[in-house]
Amino acid sequence: MEIQYLPVAASRLPSIDFQHLGFGEVFSDHMFIMEFDGGAWKSARIVPFGPIEILPSACCLHYGQIVFEGIKAFRTASGSVQIFRPDKYHERFNRSCRRLCIPEIDFDTFLTALRELVAKDRDWVPRQKGYSLYIRPFVFATDSYIGVRVSKTYRFLIITSPVGAYYKEGFNPVSLVTSTEYIRAAPGGLGMAKTPANYAATLLPAQEAIQKGFSQILWLDASEKRYIEEVGTMNIFFCVAGRLLTPSLEGTILAGITRDSVIRIAKDWGIPLEERKISIEEILEASRKGSLQEVFGTGTAAVISPVGLIRHREESITINGGQTGPLAKKFYEEITGIQYGEKPDRFHWCVSVD
Ligand SMILES: *Cc1c(COP(=O)(O)O)cnc(C)c1O
Repeated sequence: MEIQYLPVAASRLPSIDFQHLGFGEVFSDHMFIMEFDGGAWKSARIVPFGPIEILPSACCLHYGQIVFEGIKAFRTASGSVQIFRPDKYHERFNRSCRRLCIPEIDFDTFLTALRELVAKDRDWVPRQKGYSLYIRPFVFATDSYIGVRVSKTYRFLIITSPVGAYYKEGFNPVSLVTSTEYIRAAPGGLGMAKTPANYAATLLPAQEAIQKGFSQILWLDASEKRYIEEVGTMNIFFCVAGRLLTPSLEGTILAGITRDSVIRIAKDWGIPLEERKISIEEILEASRKGSLQEVFGTGTAAVISPVGLIRHREESITINGGQTGPLAKKFYEEITGIQYGEKPDRFHWCVSVD
């Protein structure tokens, strides 16, 4: 693939305060763009980050034919820059595209675009441990048409954002509440796709949860509101009597790459692991009996996010005294160790951009 390169006149890098990076607020000098038209992806280019022109009649703005991904690149102690599991994220990107009738992008093109963009902005990859370059590929439908139908034209972009440590004072366990009113995804819906509609559906419930003092909602299945699904930005794991449990992927849950990494490592460590339906009642019962040891969420942004409290209807349970447990910490250290090149990359998960 031929990628045109139009560099910035002057880098914004000197104006960035790398000591106080939040999450997703600062964007690197360049972005990748290409268009789908006439049945093919074309005009790949890396250009200065900035506004893009789009017609107000572009169908994505009206009907949400959009897919995105969230990937990270890390700087190792030796100064090299590597992307974590790009093949898995690409696989999921195309799976989401198929569900949304968006033309797929082949792995070569996807990876070349990621690597070239990150390599051009490699000075934007933070140097501090715990910091990284968050990569946001996304694709949207651009036909100028406000009837409902599959678009014939699309634009694919990649923007990148240096992000700070998710935990400023170490791990802070989050509190979750179930909803008996709202649902995130129903069988046959969009739950397995990384698409904005899933997030739009959860904004109001999440806002209400925050007003009640919780961090996020723990989603239950849409039909019976009985089985645990995920947290909406994270997948979830429970440690019960030495066994690791996580909801099986039934089409309504997003197949997290961090979830997959935890499963691979748990198997490697010989921790008994069950992917199956888990009812909220089973977890409350385990807590009452004292066998619920730890709960943690998994996602690219935070890697591992310990859960200190869960509320379901009238019952609240505290997990591990509201403190981060040893297993959450061990997974966090193993995964970040591999990402920063401090531990052997025994699963061949990291791809260098150099
Ligand atoms: C992205 C996402 C996750 C986490 O997936 P990772 O690949 O681990 O980042 C979990 N749930 C939803 C709904 C998501 O969009």
